[in-house]
This record gives sequence, C-alpha cells and structure tokens, in this order.
Amino acid sequence: MSGTAGSKANDLKVGIVGGSIAGCAAAIELSRAGCDVTLYERSGNELKDRGAGIGVPPSVVETFIDRDLVDHDIPYFRLDKMSRIWRSADDSYHGYVAWDQPAQLGALNWGGLYSNLRARVPDAIYRANHNVLALHQTDPEHVAVELADGTAPEFDLVVCADGYTSLGRHTLFPEVTVDYAGYVLWRGFIMEDELDKPKPLDDGVRCLGYPGGHGIFYFVPGPDGSVEPGKRLVNWAMYITIPDTEIEEFLTDKQGISRKGSLSPGTMPMATERRLKDEARDRIPDYYADIVEKSPDTFVYSIYDCQVPAYRVGRICLAGDAGAFARPHSAAGALKGINDSVALAAALSSHDSVDQALSEWNTERTATNNGLVQFGNQLGIALVKEIPDWSKMDQPSMEKWFSGVVTIATEYLPATP
Ligand SMILES: Cc1cc2nc3c(=O)[nH]c(=O)nc-3n(C[C@H](O)[C@H](O)[C@H](O)COP(=O)(O)OP(=O)(O)OC[C@H]3O[C@@H](n4cnc5c(N)ncnc54)[C@H](O)[C@@H]3O)c2cc1C
Repeated sequence: MSGTAGSKANDLKVGIVGGSIAGCAAAIELSRAGCDVTLYERSGNELKDRGAGIGVPPSVVETFIDRDLVDHDIPYFRLDKMSRIWRSADDSYHGYVAWDQPAQLGALNWGGLYSNLRARVPDAIYRANHNVLALHQTDPEHVAVELADGTAPEFDLVVCADGYTSLGRHTLFPEVTVDYAGYVLWRGFIMEDELDKPKPLDDGVRCLGYPGGHGIFYFVPGPDGSVEPGKRLVNWAMYITIPDTEIEEFLTDKQGISRKGSLSPGTMPMATERRLKDEARDRIPDYYADIVEKSPDTFVYSIYDCQVPAYRVGRICLAGDAGAFARPHSAAGALKGINDSVALAAALSSHDSVDQALSEWNTERTATNNGLVQFGNQLGIALVKEIPDWSKMDQPSMEKWFSGVVTIATEYLPATP
C-alpha cells in the first residue's frame, strides 16, 4: 500500500537516487524500517573505488557494526595520535615534530565500506544502469522519478543520494552553488612492503605542514583487507593550492581534455605528476617524499564548498554529498551520508506523521551538517590558507594556535586541552 499523510514508515514507497555510500545506507535502513524501497544507480553494477583510505571516528565504525551496516570484522584499525611535522634543516629526513596531537581515527578502505553496504542491499531493489533525469513533485505527497528509459515511477518519498553534483539538490535549490575552495587534494598510495621501514608511520597519523597546505600519511587496510603489519597500504593525501585562474589548465588530462573536478587514476599527464612530485620533495621530509615518489597513478580532485538551506522540500530529501559537504579535513564524507540515512529511518519509524518526521529530521540534519561544513572550513583556513610555520613552534604554542582557529570539536579531533 502506498502512504498518505499520517502513514508510518512501513506504508511508504521510497525511491532512492544514487547507489553509493549514502544511497546504500538509506536502502538498508529504510527497508529495515518497513519501507518499500527501489534504488536507481546510473553506473553499472560495481562502483569504482574512490581512493584508498577513509579516516572516521572509531566510535562511528562501532555504531555501524552495532547496526549491522557493516560486518563485525570489517578491516579497520584505530589511530590515536596525529603528529604535526614540518620539514627542517636539522632533520630533513623525518622532520621536526611540533606536536603529537591526540586524535581518534578509525582507518578503513572506501571500497571495503562500500562493498559491506552494497552486500546488504538486495539486487532486486538495486537498479544499476538507471539514470534519473528529473524529479517531479506530482502532488504534496507524491514524487515521480523520470528515468532515461522513458518511465516515471511514482513514490511517496524520494531520497536523493546522488553525490556532490546532485540533481536533487539542483532541483530543490537551483540557487545553491558549489564553489571551488582554491585548493586540490592530491592522493596516492603504495603497499607497505615497499617501505624501507614502517616507522614512523606505525606511530599514528602523520600530518606534514608546509606553506600553502599540508599532507596526511597513514596506514589503511591492504587491498585484501589485511590489517597485518607488512600487508597494509600506505595512504597519503596532500593539499595543494591552485589559484582559481589556473585550475582549469591544471585539471587537463593526458588527452588534453579539461576535466571538471578531478583527474582519476591513470589520467594525469606525466608533466603534472612530475611537477607535483618535485614540489613534494621540496616541501615534506624525505621519508614521506620517497613514498610519494614511489606511488603510481596518483590522482587529484578539487575541494569544493557547499551548504544547503534545508535537507527536505515536500517529499524530496537529500542525503550524503547531495546535501552540504564538508572539506575532507573534517573526516566526515562517508560517515555523514550514512548518518543522514540512519537518522531518516529512525525519524520515520518514531512518528505517525511522515511530514512531521521529515520536518524534525530536516531541522536536525541541516544544523548538524552545516556545523560539519563549518568545522571543515575552519580546518581549511588553519591548515591550508593560513598555516603558520610549525618549525618555529612547540607543543604549547601549537595548542594555543589550534584552539584559537578551530573552535568546533568533533569526535575525531576533541577540543584542545
Ligand atoms: C574523486 C573522489 C575521491 C574521494 N575519495 C575519498 C576518500 O578516499 N575518502 C573519503 O572519506 N571520501 C572520499 N571522497 C568523498 C566520498 O566519496 C564521499 O564523501 C562519499 O562517497 C559520499 O557518498 P555519497 O553516497 O553521498 O555520494 P557518491 O559517493 O558521490 O555517490 C553518488 C552516487 O549517485 C550516482 N548518481 C549521481 N547522479 C545520478 C543520477 N542522475 N541517477 C542515478 N544515479 C546517480 C553516482 O553514480 C554515484 O554512485 C572522494 C570523493 C571524490 C569525488
């Protein structure tokens, strides 16, 4: 039966646009709440891995396990320290450690998280190769999903989990823009057995500062899920300032085509990769520059800012990167999408009125996610735009600087003592 105002979650016919992290989480949670779910994903059956590593607060991984969103033995490990390091003349190999900042990070693979979620969405409701062209609110309680195959099935609720270029966001808020933040994230990885020695990476996350950015280096589980020393991946990412006037040329691929937003593995021209590797050599200590040098097929994506005025209009909702998105410094990308979906199912399950459930969910999600965006922006200013020279600082001055510029605490970076 299809829902009407006053129906509960188990009466609802729900359409989901997008079958990645947020879409799969929504399909699982809403199906378990009793909704009749259909998910449309424009890609083929398996999504490509977005990159090696994800860092999320360990408590979040535990929550996902408790909710059976992921297997209890999903490969991940905890890292409890983020060392802030600057290349120095005195120690150009390891660099000067200005501050061992307490941190709580669970390191896992994007691909591992996605495949755990995808395995819990029955194939019968996951419609791969289905491109959604438009959404039409046909009356206050129904939305038609216009598909590229010419059909337009109708739903009581549509959840748009269609990523940062979201059709759903554009439909609800055409005035909202996605703005380039003035820098990119350059990424790569090598197998642990290519390292001369695992230390100092064994000590936790290494955050390497330099003028105009910083880099993050840490172990994540290996491609086979192995968390054993020797079989892990060394995952790294460096923030590089590229002025607005140069970004189009910078994102030109091997074929000479200017790409919007990213250069995926294998598409970066050799000259661009060489230039970045040379810059890394000048900026970060040699131990880490050697890792960067050895990394094949590095890739890069632009950092964007986007905030939304709301997560819901009528019977259309946003989830994950389709809503607001926080800069990657916030370690929030993947978990935000899952939390949006978990909270939506919880709200629908605990209200008799669908519209009241959506309204309360919307208020809470808009505030929480815009707070995350603000946290990411504060970190972006502190760690990229206005990064001070850490080689001239010690632990007390680092703590003072950080607590002055980053005022929002999260589970992964607690308030500075
Ligand atoms: C290049 C890149 C690398 C990244 N690497 C990392 C990383 O290593 N760690 C990390 O935490 N985060 C990373 N992120 C961010 C992370 O991928 C996202 O925060 C997270 O995946 C958000 O999940 P999502 O489901 O909201 O959106 P996405 O993962 O972007 O998924 C959106 C889905 O919607 C589908 N879709 C879009 N439009 C339509 C349509 N019209 N019809 C049907 N389907 C549609 C897309 O095919 C896609 O599968 C990366 C992002 C990018 C762009």
